[in-house]
Amino acid sequence: MSALLVPSLYAMSGVCAYAALHHGLAVMQRRVSQTHLLFAALCGAVMAYILVRAGAYQAQTVEALVALRKWEVVGVCLIYIIFPWFIAGFTGVRPRRFLIALSVLWSLILAANWILPYGAQFADLPTLTHFDLPWGERVVDLRVFQPSLVHKIALLAILAIMAFGVHACIDQYRRGLKTRARSLAWALGLFFSFILFNWAANWGLIDFIHLSEFGFLALVVMMDLEMMRESRNDKRRMRDVLDHLPVAICLKDLRGRFQLINRGFETLFHVDDDNLLGKTAYDTLPPELARRFHTDEKEAIETGKDVEREHVLDGSGTPHIYETHQFPLLRQDGNAYAVCGVYFDVTEARQKDEALHKFRQQIWHTDRVASTGAISASLAHEICQPLAAILNNAQAGLRFLDHDRVDLEEIREIFQDVVRDDKRAGTIINGLRAMLQQQETPYADVDLAQCIEEVLELLHSEVIRYDVDIERMLETHLTVRANKTQLQQVILNLTVNALEAMAEQPASERKLRIRVTRADGKAVVSFSDTGIGIAEDMLDRVFEGFYTTKPQGLGVGLEVCRSIMESHHGSIRAERNPDRGATFRFSLPLAGGDAAQAGTAGA
Ligand code: ADP
Repeated sequence: MSALLVPSLYAMSGVCAYAALHHGLAVMQRRVSQTHLLFAALCGAVMAYILVRAGAYQAQTVEALVALRKWEVVGVCLIYIIFPWFIAGFTGVRPRRFLIALSVLWSLILAANWILPYGAQFADLPTLTHFDLPWGERVVDLRVFQPSLVHKIALLAILAIMAFGVHACIDQYRRGLKTRARSLAWALGLFFSFILFNWAANWGLIDFIHLSEFGFLALVVMMDLEMMRESRNDKRRMRDVLDHLPVAICLKDLRGRFQLINRGFETLFHVDDDNLLGKTAYDTLPPELARRFHTDEKEAIETGKDVEREHVLDGSGTPHIYETHQFPLLRQDGNAYAVCGVYFDVTEARQKDEALHKFRQQIWHTDRVASTGAISASLAHEICQPLAAILNNAQAGLRFLDHDRVDLEEIREIFQDVVRDDKRAGTIINGLRAMLQQQETPYADVDLAQCIEEVLELLHSEVIRYDVDIERMLETHLTVRANKTQLQQVILNLTVNALEAMAEQPASERKLRIRVTRADGKAVVSFSDTGIGIAEDMLDRVFEGFYTTKPQGLGVGLEVCRSIMESHHGSIRAERNPDRGATFRFSLPLAGGDAAQAGTAGA
């Protein structure tokens, strides 16, 4: 008597156990969706069912047979409770009420099986009959010739599950998921063929034992193959997407070991996937880079937040500017299980920005030089005045020296006047030179009131030419940390704009009020004119590049002002005055961060 059926049942249960473990572990490692957990449970139930069947085929007594068949029904009920939910999870077809009703029905069958003396299958105590398989193996005959009522209800419940399976299959087909629909159809088809086979055996059409185990195994194998195929495809697609992204990406575990890198990363750091995986950045990258990565990753893991940095990296020989993002991947409990790094090459964008900024600065500078050309014509007059005064005083001094009695007090006064006038000429010349030169001046503590006075001194003749009355409300000793030349450029531009805006107004109404105050730990400077004003919807636009309403205007002055303010961590805005004209207001952080200190610094 050669044993074939029973050993193959044990082998089949081994296959199910492997599938259950495989899918269960994949879920635990968060590699796959929760549907795999349902599948693992399904495999586990099929495994238990097959093992019980193997035992029943070898039952020695009727009591043992009844007990084993009761356990068999438990396995079947679990399979039929899990299977519809698995199909729903796998296909996304979720008729909730129907699924709950099915689960309730199978739970009732399970309960009845437990309560009834001979289980859900037999109406009466079965007899222990045997069946001789063609290859000479003798097993207990597990066919049910006198099914109980519960058994008949269970058959209807199986048909309901099949109908749901077919519906889900059609749905997948309609959604274009043809391979999935085909696999599901095969799984259901094979399974149902074995059920039909059982019925045919029950009705005496076929003289053979039930083959339900093979039906369940076919279901498990078909679905396993399909799920593995999909998971492989998902991985491949994800890999393709990652490799085609124009950024470098890497994923590391909490000990900093590379788990995944994309092609962008390989190119950027001249590494390859096989060499890098499982190693840390210190093993493969230059130590400085590795240290930077490590610091950012640590911060991302500790804070649980995205860490954004800009690094200049020398990955491919020439320095590149990279915007880097490190973010932790979090478990449901909020703890990180991995950290992901994304690196964008922003070198080109930054170079363009820089070039554009320089270009605008240059244009504006040229414009300023041109307009200061006009200013300097009238400045000649400003400089001639003190020079003439110096000459007069010097001549007067010489004359005094010719006197018999030299009045030293008189001579001292003359010298003091000479010194004062010389300083005045020097201030004007230096101011003009600073305004015209383009070289960078270092950041320093700048007294705002003084800075404004210097610019106004420079614009003295312009103010007279435009016939504008300037009111100064300058709080003294307010100091900001700034590049003085740039700050003067802003003040000059706002003043000249105000003068030009008032050109068309009657002379008596041309008033410019310049105010320096402090508010919220900041210095606020405002220029209020009585000029033509700015339309409400233009208040922001005036800061855009090349926006101008003047025939000879360039429209870059205010844009440069704004970029200067931003580089000083300040801000600038335009407002409409309630009566007429416009106010431009900029604010800057006070030097040293507090007003008191600023006051001392400026004193
Ligand atoms: P430009 O002076 O070369 O036109 P700006 O960038 O300095 O360039 O100014 C842009 C525009 O903003 C001006 O053309 C003008 O229309 C408007 N503007 C600037 N300042 C004032 C002001 N004080 N009053 C009214 N309009 C102004």
